[in-house]
Amino acid sequence: KVVLGIESSCDETAAALVTSERVILAQAIASQEAEHAPYGGVVPEIAARAHAERIAPLIEKVLQEAKVSLSDCDAIAATAGPGLIGGVMVGLVSAKALAMASDKPLIAINHLEGHALSPRLADASLRFPYALLLVSGGHCQILEVSGPGQYRRLATTIDDALGEAFDKSAKVLGLGYPGGPALERLALAGDPQAVPLPRPLMGKPEPHFSFAGLKSAVLRAHESGAYADADIAASFQQAAVDCIRDRLTRALAQMPEVTALVVAGGVAANAVVRSALESLAHQRGLPFIAPPMALCTDNAAMIAWAGLEHLALGHAGDPLDFVARPRWPLDPEAEPARGAGV
Ligand code: ATP
Ligand code: MG
Ligand code: FE
Repeated sequence: KVVLGIESSCDETAAALVTSERVILAQAIASQEAEHAPYGGVVPEIAARAHAERIAPLIEKVLQEAKVSLSDCDAIAATAGPGLIGGVMVGLVSAKALAMASDKPLIAINHLEGHALSPRLADASLRFPYALLLVSGGHCQILEVSGPGQYRRLATTIDDALGEAFDKSAKVLGLGYPGGPALERLALAGDPQAVPLPRPLMGKPEPHFSFAGLKSAVLRAHESGAYADADIAASFQQAAVDCIRDRLTRALAQMPEVTALVVAGGVAANAVVRSALESLAHQRGLPFIAPPMALCTDNAAMIAWAGLEHLALGHAGDPLDFVARPRWPLDPEAEPARGAGV
């Protein structure tokens, strides 16, 4: 089977054609980093307009590159949320129009499910259930993944997401937007023990995350003038990784059935995070699986793949009046995380 995937929930416009044999026939991504950089973050109105300008040529480009026509596709999958609603609507409406014109099923994909299943696109050996650390710009969760649509959330953040903490700390250090990759590069030249920084919630019984206090401590360390920027960057990264290890260790104790430890989302591109997770997994006798960098940050191949996973389960398609969802939790049953006192 072949699915066309479309992604437009944040600041990348993307299209991809993927087969059920895990072959990415073609993919294209247009990043809006340059448009948003002057504002230090994503501006929703600018994002929606940029998606609208780029999406049609991107889709045409992947179809041409793969020499595939819409009539060859088995379905059209698009991110239908969560995310910046203007952008989501641009991608979803495009997918609806193509589905209607070609008489192919539309599959409305949860962007977070795209991230959550992306490791299975990269690695055919990965079986359900697996433990997933989903760390992106807007989310920081630990999930037990038992299949498409089957998620149990064990932990979330009570304030900032990890990618957000990277971005805000990078901004404090004058690294610009988006800050995660720049902070990782700067940290290479720093000492991870040089700056004393807090490890919020470490040792608490529930495996939730908190990063707001860490980011504030980065700000204070920078304003004190006592430390080199590279040392602050390396120490921030170390503190974040220590929190992840502690929180995941607790969560894994609540998921005895899992067959692997998996990381996904933009922050999964970080080498220090990856190596810490790898050693944790090996201590627990679990394989560690991380998608290649290009599948970690937002892309359309993961959306097409999520569509293929749904097709394989017999999903016949979503109605063409499917409404875009600014919020769409993977585990609707999960209780909101209570604060640091728990
Ligand atoms: P969400 O998926 O929650 O809606 P998003 O789509 O904006 O959010 P992604 O594209 O999945 O998020 O990830 C972007 C985030 O990943 C940004 O916060 C970015 O700084 C972070 N990031 C990317 N590369 C790295 C890296 N090498 N180190 C740390 N953080 C990184
Ligand atoms: Mg982005
Ligand atoms: Fe994302």
